[in-house]
Amino acid sequence: MAAEVLLERGVAVDIYDAMPSLGRKFLMAGKSGLNLTHSEPAAAFLQRFGDARERLEPALSAFDAAAIRAWAAGLGIETFIGSSGRVFPVNFKAAPLLRSWLRRLRERGARIHVRHKWHGWSADGALVFATPRGEVRQSADATVLALGGGSWPKLGSDAAWVGILSAVGVQVAPLKPANCGFDVPWSTIFRERFSGEPVKAVRLSHRERSLVGEFVVTDNGIEGGAVYALSAVLRDRIEVDGGTTLILDLSPDRSEARLAADLAGPRGSRSVTTHLKRQAGLVGVKAGLLRECLDASAFADPARLAAGIKALPLRLTAARPLEEAISSAGGIAFAMLDDRFMLRTRPGLFCAGEMLDWEAPTGGYLFSACFATGRAAGLGAADWLAARSNTLAAAPSIGINPTALG
Ligand SMILES: Cc1cc2nc3c(=O)[nH]c(=O)nc-3n(C[C@H](O)[C@H](O)[C@H](O)COP(=O)(O)OP(=O)(O)OC[C@H]3O[C@@H](n4cnc5c(N)ncnc54)[C@H](O)[C@@H]3O)c2cc1C
Repeated sequence: MAAEVLLERGVAVDIYDAMPSLGRKFLMAGKSGLNLTHSEPAAAFLQRFGDARERLEPALSAFDAAAIRAWAAGLGIETFIGSSGRVFPVNFKAAPLLRSWLRRLRERGARIHVRHKWHGWSADGALVFATPRGEVRQSADATVLALGGGSWPKLGSDAAWVGILSAVGVQVAPLKPANCGFDVPWSTIFRERFSGEPVKAVRLSHRERSLVGEFVVTDNGIEGGAVYALSAVLRDRIEVDGGTTLILDLSPDRSEARLAADLAGPRGSRSVTTHLKRQAGLVGVKAGLLRECLDASAFADPARLAAGIKALPLRLTAARPLEEAISSAGGIAFAMLDDRFMLRTRPGLFCAGEMLDWEAPTGGYLFSACFATGRAAGLGAADWLAARSNTLAAAPSIGINPTALG
């Protein structure tokens, strides 16, 4: 995005990436449909960025969901708004969009250098890259860093930049998992039976937050859409208390009173499993969760069983590691950046994307902020370069008079 706007402004651009090809995480996102942005009204959209909203708002407003859709259309990729308001390419694929985007960048003059891993500056200020052919140094009038957060490092975003920038005094909030799964100490029997099973139409509550959605049981715990939506508060609570309890309502459409009455019906010779299925509609993984988290004695008491179905406590012991998360929280502190996304302490060095200190839920908000800050940083760099060349052109040339020196 930064390259695109710099090229539009007539600046020569070189793009460097550590990986053998560009946009690997973008392509990975295509595997789950490539949710490019969200169509909800601007006020609700901006709210998703929490504390970072104020700093991101100008960039997000300048390149909003409509602009993202128009941009994709300009690359030959039509988008549509799904029932949840999320925006996807009609073919749900990332590869055609990335191909078209890179083709256009190349046609406009971008030079792309892959297998170039940036690892700092030389004494004279040149960017230093490790490449298969050895070290390469490159001076630049302005630099835009868009090195990603720390999730899925095998796709390139290994967060090695944190050490490099911290060493030159850039304040970086520790990277943490965002939109992540959580550890639950499942019994062996539950894990073996239900790992990989989706739990659908369930209400998840944590303190004052609550939503209906679905998640997946994993070997270590839980992950998936509804869990990601609560993950920031769950993560922060675990950080403080060393663990937290998520409350599950396994039957959001039935009241506790109705469930208690249904379960009080005669069981006869039927097994508890069949009784639960017939009277409460609970089978498979939902019935398994009840057994896993409820005291065995509750199954003989319809009122306690109904209460358990409506408010099943699931103990979470840790957030899954950053490497597994969909995105990162933390990053370069906004206080270090001016309104153009330039580091105040390093004129000419701009930063964009997930490496900045913001987080947002899934729903297209992540790409939206990456696109928007990329554009803003690119425009900032273009303006800064233009201002600098005007200053240089206007400055009187400084010469040394040899006779004066002699
Ligand atoms: C499985 C998955 C699915 C996702 N799906 C969605 C989705 O549908 N919608 C959505 O909005 N978001 C989604 N995301 C999140 C989204 O992909 C990221 O937020 C976004 O890609 C971040 O963009 P970025 O440009 O900041 O960083 P990245 O996309 O991580 O790109 C950073 C680039 O910098 C390069 N790099 C890093 N360090 C160096 C270095 N030292 N030298 C040279 N190059 C370096 C990397 O190789 C990489 O190419 C998904 C993430 C994952 C993991």
